[in-house]
Parts: sequence; C-alpha cells; structure tokens
Amino acid sequence: MLQDIAQALAYAQQKDREDELGSFRSRFYFPRAPEGEMIYFCGNSLGLQPVGAEDSIQQELTDWRELAIGGYWQARNPWMSYPASLRGALARIVGCGEEEVTVMNALTVNLHLLLLSFYRPGGQRRKILMEAGAFPSDMYAVETQVRWHGYDPREAIIEVAPREGEKLIREEDILAAIDRSTDSLALVLIGGLNYYTGQFFDIQRITAAAHAAGALAGYDLAHAVGNVPLRLHDWEVDFAVWCSYKYLNGGPGAAGGAFVHRRHTTDPTIPRLGGWWGNDESSRFKMQKGFVPKATAEGWSMSTAQVFNMVCLRASLALFEEAGIERLQAKSRELTAYLASLLAPLEGPVFRVITPVEPDRRGAQLSLLFNDPERGRKVQRELQEEGVVTDYREPGVIRVAPAPLYNSFEDVYRFCHILGQLL
Ligand SMILES: *Cc1c(COP(=O)(O)O)cnc(C)c1O
Repeated sequence: MLQDIAQALAYAQQKDREDELGSFRSRFYFPRAPEGEMIYFCGNSLGLQPVGAEDSIQQELTDWRELAIGGYWQARNPWMSYPASLRGALARIVGCGEEEVTVMNALTVNLHLLLLSFYRPGGQRRKILMEAGAFPSDMYAVETQVRWHGYDPREAIIEVAPREGEKLIREEDILAAIDRSTDSLALVLIGGLNYYTGQFFDIQRITAAAHAAGALAGYDLAHAVGNVPLRLHDWEVDFAVWCSYKYLNGGPGAAGGAFVHRRHTTDPTIPRLGGWWGNDESSRFKMQKGFVPKATAEGWSMSTAQVFNMVCLRASLALFEEAGIERLQAKSRELTAYLASLLAPLEGPVFRVITPVEPDRRGAQLSLLFNDPERGRKVQRELQEEGVVTDYREPGVIRVAPAPLYNSFEDVYRFCHILGQLL
C-alpha cells in the first residue's frame, strides 16, 4: 500500500519534470497554509496573483506620480491605448481578430450592454433561449431585459433542461428547441461552459442552428475564456462576454471582456448606448454632436479606460502569451484526464463526477456531485482544513479545477490522496 502511494507520487513528479510549462507555477503566488502552501484548485473562481502584478501596478503609480496627465501618452504603457494593448493576447485566446475584442466594465454590465444591441425583440420574434440552471447573474440579466422590453419572462424565456434523471443538457435538445421556435426566437444565449457541471457546449453548432432559425447567438464565456479552445470569429458567434478574474487571473473586480463579430462591428446602424470612448477616434476630441461608433468592438465602450482594473490582467496575459494557448490547452487535457483517472476509483455511492467524460466537452473543471449535499459541504470544509482550496456549489457539488498555468500533476495527486482519506 505504502509502496503504491510512493509510486503514484513518483509518477506525478515525473510528469511535472517533463512538463514544459512547469516553470510557470513559480510565477504565481499560492495562498499560505499553516505549513507551506495550499493546494489551489479554485482558479475557475479566482485565478492566482501573478508575481509580476505588483511591479505592474507600481509602474502605473509611478507614471501617474511623475507624468500625471502626460501618462495618457507618455506612460510606459500609455493609458490612452491601454485596453488596445490587451487585444492581441485576448484575440488569440478567444479566436478572433483584434478589432473584434475589447476590455471594459464587468461581465454582467457588458452582457446588458450587448443585449441592448443584440436582443431586439419585435413582433413575433421576441424569445430568448437559454440553458436551465444558468449562472444567477445571467438569469437576472435576461429576466430584467425581457421585462425592460415590456414582456413577460415566463412567456419570453425558453429554458432547455437536462432530461429526467440526467445532469447534463443534451445538445440535440438545444438544437431541437431552437428548431421548434424558428418563428419566435430572437436570441440564443448560453453559458459556453456551465459553471456547475463543467459542460462545454458545442458553440459552433448551436450558433449555426440559431442563425438557421433567424436568431442571433451570444455566449457568456466566464468559465470558458483562458480555459478551452475558442474560435469565436470562425464559429460566427454574434457576441460574447466574460470576466477576467477566473482563468485569466486579472484579480478581483478586473475589467471584463467582450467580443462582437466583425459583421456587427462594421455596422454603425446597430442600436447601442454610446459614450465618448466608443466614438470614432478621429472625431472623439472634436467635442461635437453626433455619435460615430468605432467600427470595432470598442464601439461599445463608453468611458475612459479603467487602467487600474486592467493592470493585473495585462501581467497575466503576458504569461498566457509566453506559454502559448495551445500548449496550455494540451497540458490542461492531460491534467484533467489525470484527475479524472484518480477520482474514478473513489466514485460510488458518496459522489460521482458529473462533468462530461469526453475531453472536447469539458475544460479544466470536474464537478463532484455528492448524493447527500450535507456530506458535500462537510468534505468541502475538511478539504479546506487539509490545505486544499476547492469550492462548493449548491446543490451538492464540489468543483475541482486544476489550472494548467500553475497547477501540477503533484497537486492533483495530493488532492486525490487527501480526498480518498477523507472518504
Ligand atoms: C463568474 C460569472 C459571472 C460573474 O459576473 P460579474 O458581472 O463579473 O460579477 C457571470 N456569469 C457567469 C456564467 C459566471 O461564471
């Protein structure tokens, strides 16, 4: 028995030595445990702090102190173009052109702003189709938008739920529901990767079905961005929003991101709420009437860039660039598959993994559903006491997310060993 454990640990350590991204771990701070560091599997809720974040903030403080207003043009990272300086890395992460992506506000705010442009109910066509069990903020956003337009959420929102006795939503059921609503559907809005189950939806297929039904398709990518492969432009997605503090490690309250497809960014007639930062740059400072939206995703920006909400994101994106998103995703698949393989013998009457088994249908997160939610909460508390950070979501789920940028195979091994002992 002890020999088995030693062998399993040696295997994990060997995998870590072979991992060409292994050195990135040392470029993040892990929370402290009574002895050493916590095992951190909560990067899907709040990514860790990049070691370089502090210097990056200091840089902006210095430039503000020494240059004041001049910092807009002369700071080392001029504030005027600060959001633009993040676009390249983000475009590679979500798979689009740089002019299709922007950083602004926060997720729910961006969702509302883009719904104002892309949920335009009228006549018969006024329904929104979404997944049952969406993240609460998304449910509230959709419910209140529908009411804002004067409609009844019970009538205007179509929810697609898992079948009786199942936990995941079948894509065929989403497609069928879209097909049934071709006369009444205005928008399909899906959480690209479900926060509770870890299910990653086939965005390309759902988008194509929405378009075939005469509707638009938007996505909340809070749990997908920086996690799973995305090709938003080629998939013809109309719009998407995300936050930057989960896998992107932008820090609490970091500015959120948004994608708008080029066919929309270049259409100045799309209704929107404007502000000077979304105005065409050549006329922005003329101080005249007449909003002329930029022909990019920034055409939905309103206000001066919130530089201090973007600094840590910038530091983290530099690490994504260095690691390469493809290499990260390749490691992520291995790491999550390793986690799944060590959890399999522990599954049974106490808990089971409800996240899809197929690597294309999930990202870095596995969701452990406890038969008895009380037991789930207890295990969550005990894990914390043992120096493991996971999180618990009602009903009954402990989410475990090894982030490939800073988690190791040894983390996974140690977690499963501790969990096995607790059970
Ligand atoms: C984390 C998350 C949010 C959070 O929204 P904020 O506006 O950043 O607070 C919203 N939707 C989903 C699906 C999330 O996972």
